[in-house]
Amino acid sequence: MEVVFLGTGGYHPNARRHTAGVAIPEARLVFDAGTSAFRIAQVIPPGELNVFLTHAHLDHVCGLTYLLAPLLTGHFTGCRLYGSKKTLDAVRTHLFADEIFPILPAFEFQEVTAETRVGQYVVRSQPMVHPGGSLAYRVDDAASSLAYVTDTVASSAYVDFVREVDLLIHECSFRDRDAKWCEPTGHSHTSAVARVARDAQVKQLYLTHIDPRETGDDPVDLALARQIFAATFVSEDLSKVKA
Ligand SMILES: [Zn+2]
Ligand SMILES: [Zn+2]
Repeated sequence: MEVVFLGTGGYHPNARRHTAGVAIPEARLVFDAGTSAFRIAQVIPPGELNVFLTHAHLDHVCGLTYLLAPLLTGHFTGCRLYGSKKTLDAVRTHLFADEIFPILPAFEFQEVTAETRVGQYVVRSQPMVHPGGSLAYRVDDAASSLAYVTDTVASSAYVDFVREVDLLIHECSFRDRDAKWCEPTGHSHTSAVARVARDAQVKQLYLTHIDPRETGDDPVDLALARQIFAATFVSEDLSKVKA
């Protein structure tokens, strides 16, 4: 599986990073639709689209409104929108409220089950700790596996869910020096994420949902992460990686 990072920043976009979005073009599948969602039609060829939402915070869903044009022009012939009931209800009721964005694109809303099939790909979900809740996802096909874990406090609680994936994409909102912000905001810091990767024996760890105040080449203290888990990288918008 090849992954394209559409947006690798958290909270708000900056000149370097848009907010949440990860595409698996060959599966016609995208995780989250933050401000990076305008890039979905650039990387997923014409046809069907499947969008899996982790939760309904704006940095993960505001870009759903950008899918109106590619659905109206026929670039996408349909779009299934997957998420928890709570997330889908919030999107329908609030994001597409008349006063905010009055035209609901032709989404087919699908509540995720513990295991959802998209063609040859099996997508599993697991509830995570985050204000309002969020879902982590894991995708397996015959050849490879990946997990997308964002907006949560890194912990040993879900090591089994991501065990031995080829690619773990995990949020890293804070450096260790700001670890005190993790619990109150429901986010993760560098060494805690690296420990999850190490304990789950994943092959590679790509950090995303980067603090938007950080605009330099090393927003997470990468050397510190690599002392715990050597194959750690910081994802960049529009970069690609193979699971
Ligand atoms: Zn977020
Ligand atoms: Zn969130």
